[in-house]
Amino acid sequence: MKKVLSSLTFAAIVATSLIACKKDAKESGGDEISASTAAQIRSLGFSTDGARKVAEGYLVEGDIILRNEDLTARASGPEVVYANEEHYRTTNLVSPSSHPTIKVALNNSSSAHQAVFSAALDEAIRRYNAESMTIKFQRVTTGANTTVVAYYEVSNTLGSSGFPSGGAPYSQVKMNTYWYSTGTGTSNINYIATIMTHELGHCIGFRHTDYMNRSYSCGGSATNEGSAGVGAIYISGTPTGPSAGSWMLACVGSGVNRPFTTADRTALTTVY
Ligand SMILES: [Zn+2]
Repeated sequence: MKKVLSSLTFAAIVATSLIACKKDAKESGGDEISASTAAQIRSLGFSTDGARKVAEGYLVEGDIILRNEDLTARASGPEVVYANEEHYRTTNLVSPSSHPTIKVALNNSSSAHQAVFSAALDEAIRRYNAESMTIKFQRVTTGANTTVVAYYEVSNTLGSSGFPSGGAPYSQVKMNTYWYSTGTGTSNINYIATIMTHELGHCIGFRHTDYMNRSYSCGGSATNEGSAGVGAIYISGTPTGPSAGSWMLACVGSGVNRPFTTADRTALTTVY
């Protein structure tokens, strides 16, 4: 099954599983967003498909947290296209002068996942630091800019994070242990590192490579992308392009390792 860095079209999933699974139906209560909030989300350039209220604010485009202050902060310009047409960043970036080193801690509540999460976070940091960027990442135990935490939720979301503000990276990456095995083999480390690298990518301002057309990585159509039934299709019928395999694609298959592609590297070093 193709899992999502996201809950994607949550409403669609609920709708299709309403009869089969009552607990999914329960989750729909209270998650809806108001029309005015939806308008704010759209005004910032994000899709409201599947958007829902969460503790930190609103979850949009699957795994991106928009806080209340994000909703009211107007972007100063149009969407900015960087590096190549398949890569996108937000108007908010980390300031290399104020935050040349992003300190990342692991504060994991799942002891069973501690070993693999720790190894995966080290791998994610290694991937970024292997690039010639103006920001670096550093693993710390105290004084973190960004903390990786675990949570458990029966949903399509693999993890979530948000965008920078005031030149600082987003402060939290959430990893849904519902989806991760606890083994410390290389393949599992690389898979979880792939998700952490993706979520850290949001924290420093990268948007989904395929945000204009999530079906590129998620399968499905523009109206039902992310639904479990069609989301499993990845290779067959998927368009090929310069950003195939990008670390910032919205969806990823189970166990897939996505080290930076050539296009990813260009995006990273162009922005930073
Ligand atoms: Zn994402």
